[in-house]
Amino acid sequence: MSLHAALSYERPRQRMVGEQIQARGIHDERVLAAMRTVPRHLFVDPALVSRAYQDASLPIGSGQTISQPYMVARMTQLLELQGHERVLEIGTGCGYQTAVLSRLCRRVYSIERIAPLHERARQNLRAARHANVMLKCADGRLGWEEYAPYDAIIVTAGGFASELWLQQLKTGGMLLLPEGENGAHRLVRRTKLAHGINEEYFDACTFVPLLEGVESSLSRK
Ligand code: SAH
Repeated sequence: MSLHAALSYERPRQRMVGEQIQARGIHDERVLAAMRTVPRHLFVDPALVSRAYQDASLPIGSGQTISQPYMVARMTQLLELQGHERVLEIGTGCGYQTAVLSRLCRRVYSIERIAPLHERARQNLRAARHANVMLKCADGRLGWEEYAPYDAIIVTAGGFASELWLQQLKTGGMLLLPEGENGAHRLVRRTKLAHGINEEYFDACTFVPLLEGVESSLSRK
């Protein structure tokens, strides 16, 4: 193996997609291609690089986590993106899910409430050259009115939906979130119809909590 291939973590990444993602039933070819390409090791703390492709979530500072690779793929597949969409993400974290989405839709708008994480995501996404991503540091429960309506909204922290999200969604658009409390969540996908909402429940899961307001400094480790 060349030095470049070793440093780019090509093999662990391909293995991650085969063993953790395809093996568990993710079949959307575009999602698989994005997961094979985005360099997850560039989004984690340098001390955790050797664990970047493991079947687990990892700490990213400020008490938050980068989601397990399978969960990123699962949620992305549920959005059924075709390429023309404008997607709002609540909970940028380190920006890994943002990077995956950015390869599958026209533009991603992503909101993070913890300032140091927002800044790190900005650096991570610049390093990986994602031009179709817009980030802001704010309370994502308010959505991002300026660019609404969105084709899809994905929430990567667990809690209950804000009414503003459905309002900021196009008719036919999907809102995907881990719903519930105290670390016991279930993925729910709500499709906004001309009259009413279609609701579908999927995997049980555990996410960090959806919180209110903005945090400007590292008050928690
Ligand atoms: N998609 C991220 C997952 C990060 S964990 C990744 O791939 O790394 C969820 C993130 O949601 C955390 O960074 C947390 O700070 C953020 N979050 C929680 N509540 C929020 C809110 N109301 N608005 C914006 N971000 C929020």
